[in-house]
Amino acid sequence: MSLAPETLKSLVKAAAEQVIAKSAELTALDQAIGDGDHGANMKRGFEAVLGKLDAISALPPAEALKTIGKTLVMTVGGASGPLYGSFFLAAGDALANKELPADLVDVFGSGVKAVSSRGRSQAGEKTMLDVLFPVLETLQSGAIGTGLIARVRTTAREAAARTAPMRATKGRASYLGERSIGHVDPGARSSCVLLDAVCDTLEARS
Ligand code: ADP
Ligand code: MG
Repeated sequence: MSLAPETLKSLVKAAAEQVIAKSAELTALDQAIGDGDHGANMKRGFEAVLGKLDAISALPPAEALKTIGKTLVMTVGGASGPLYGSFFLAAGDALANKELPADLVDVFGSGVKAVSSRGRSQAGEKTMLDVLFPVLETLQSGAIGTGLIARVRTTAREAAARTAPMRATKGRASYLGERSIGHVDPGARSSCVLLDAVCDTLEARS
C-alpha cells in the first residue's frame, strides 16, 4: 500500500481539524505551566495547513510533509512551531527515498530525532518528546495490521498523561521548577491529539 492522495488528504484534514477543535484545551494546559498560547499557536498553524489542503494533498507525500513543515514553521510561532516544523521537514526528507507504510518507523523516527536535536531535549523533560519517543518505540515493536494502530493510540494517551507528574526541564514550563509538577504538558497533549486523529483516520479506512 502506498499513500494515496485521498488518504493523505484525509489524514492531514483530520489532524488539523482535531488540533483546532482542541485548541481551548491546549491553551488551558499552557495557562497552567506556560504562557497560554499553545492552543492559539497550533490553531493558527493548522488553519494555514487546512488552507493549503488541496495543494498539499496533490503533492508527492514527501513534498507534502515538507510543505506542512514549512507552513508550521512560518505560522505556529513559539517554541512548538520550529519543533513541529522540524518534525515534518525531517520526516519529508526521510520519506523522499522511501515508501509508506513500509518505512514508517524510519520516517517517524527521523521526525522525532529532528525535534530532539532542534530542542536539545530528550525523553523525561516534560515535552512533546515524552509522547513522540514512546510512540516511536511502539512503532518499532510491531508491523501494521497487528493492532498497531490501537497500540499507538494507547501509547500516546498514556504517555501524555505520564507527563503530569514530571518536572519540566526544557521550555517555558522549566521556569516553574517544582511547580510544573501536576499538569499535563501542552505539547505532549497536542502530539497526542495529532496522533489520535491519524489513528482514527487510518482505522476508519482499513
Ligand atoms: P512557547 O513555550 O514558546 O509559548 P508553545 O506554548 O506553543 O510555545 O509550546 C510549548 C510546548 O513546546 C511545550 O509544552 C513543550 O511540549 C514544547 N517544547 C518547548 N520547548 C521544547 C524543547 N526544547 N524540546 C521539545 N519540546 C519543547
Ligand atoms: Mg506557550
